[in-house]
Amino acid sequence: MAGSPRVGVLALQGDVREHAALLEVLGADVTLVRRPEELALVDGLVIPGGESTVIDKLARLFGLQQPIRDAIADGMPVLGTCAGLILLADEVVDAIDGQQSFGGLDAVVRRNAFGRQAESFEAELTVPAFDEPVTAAFIRGPVVEAVGPRASVLATLPDGRVVGVEQDGLLGLSFHPEITNETRFHRRFLDRVSRR
Ligand code: GLN
Repeated sequence: MAGSPRVGVLALQGDVREHAALLEVLGADVTLVRRPEELALVDGLVIPGGESTVIDKLARLFGLQQPIRDAIADGMPVLGTCAGLILLADEVVDAIDGQQSFGGLDAVVRRNAFGRQAESFEAELTVPAFDEPVTAAFIRGPVVEAVGPRASVLATLPDGRVVGVEQDGLLGLSFHPEITNETRFHRRFLDRVSRR
């Protein structure tokens, strides 16, 4: 693919601006996606952190759920952070009644997994794919309870809990690289987009 990768940020709710700004710094051509026509313009999508229940409802209201599911099935790379990871997971534990995900990522993800005392915290992660350690910010984040055979572990907490998964072009993170100047996950996503 020639030129800048054309990527979207799902812009229904959540920390859309932080992702868009980081992707632009990394040289991507960024579209904010609120309608199916905008999704059709991009070769990759970031699903931001925020509230998965709200993003799910708005995606259905705006007619985006099926187009996003189709794009994932078609192999479009997607980076989902926090609520975005929940929306990528095939199975969500502690969802609210009627909550749906886009799915595609062969993993079981539990919402709000870190309880009240540790709703927000920073931790140093093990990410074998990178040379240097990752300091990650968690904000009422989910945890990956099970990783299915089609997915693999990308990041773990010191206690071994899984907080990052990938499967072909899908990357799901429990934390927020976009708020700690951590660019490596977004670079990895853009690399997947460019290789398609
Ligand atoms: N707790 C939120 C949810 O269930 C996720 C939090 C976040 O994205 N920072 O969607």
